[in-house]
Amino acid sequence: MEERDFFDERTEPRNHMLTCPHCGKQDEYALSWLVRRKKSQLNGRADERDRARFAKALSYMVLRDDVAACKNIRCRKRFDLNGVKTMAFLD
Ligand SMILES: [Zn+2]
Repeated sequence: MEERDFFDERTEPRNHMLTCPHCGKQDEYALSWLVRRKKSQLNGRADERDRARFAKALSYMVLRDDVAACKNIRCRKRFDLNGVKTMAFLD
């Protein structure tokens, strides 16, 4: 089985406070995350090895965006999301 068979996958926006490096203005940005939530159970074709891997699997999310566009109308520049953690485990 593939790792993706262990998870339900969807895209979710999450808000982050970010500071534009060009103008220094802080604002809230909705960034796009790919959220992989562990399924409640595996389907029938899982073998013993798959079940062992599934037992250890954790829900997690990966940041999809790598740049943001500044919300300051006098700036509007794009900047890298270097300060944002790009991967996080979920409870
Ligand atoms: Zn800016």
